[in-house]
Amino acid sequence: MNKKKLLIDVDEVLCNSGFLPLVNEFKNTNYKIDDFTDYYLDDYVLSSEKEKQKFYKFYLEKNSYDYATLLPNAYEVLEKLNRIYDIYICSACVMFCMIEQSGKFFMDKYNWLLKTFPFLDPNKFILTNSKNIFKADIQIDDRLSNLGGDISQKLLFTSYHNKNISDKELNILNIIRVNSWKDIEKILL
Ligand SMILES: [Mg+2]
Repeated sequence: MNKKKLLIDVDEVLCNSGFLPLVNEFKNTNYKIDDFTDYYLDDYVLSSEKEKQKFYKFYLEKNSYDYATLLPNAYEVLEKLNRIYDIYICSACVMFCMIEQSGKFFMDKYNWLLKTFPFLDPNKFILTNSKNIFKADIQIDDRLSNLGGDISQKLLFTSYHNKNISDKELNILNIIRVNSWKDIEKILL
């Protein structure tokens, strides 16, 4: 029997990205991710265009995955899912504020995935900002705008920027909210 195809996002699903920790290091601040409700933090934490440009330069000198933290139970549940499902990582790498430098983010993400999840097949790492062109059985992502493909079961992973989306709205879109990898385990295993 063919295994079901499962698309899984990386940032804010498998890990908390290194963006905010790097902002904190750069600015000597102590922001927490739940201080924010909008996806793009730049305008809130970086006060001027000059500061943004300085930060982006600093950001490019780092590997943000050195600052990323795995979400609780992500590794364990992903490993179990991998035995039953045909898993594809589906994750964006182009940062619109750093288009010409974004090649580095593909490399950093690829290397982190390879090292962190040795049981995953790197032939199935899909690194793209165009997530809505796929057909699959299940997709897990933290952004509604990424859940627009031909997918039978769509799971929205709760994150700082999507808490205000109501159950009613998700119902209409036929999307189920999951708050943790334990929730995913209950639904998919
Ligand atoms: Mg994400």
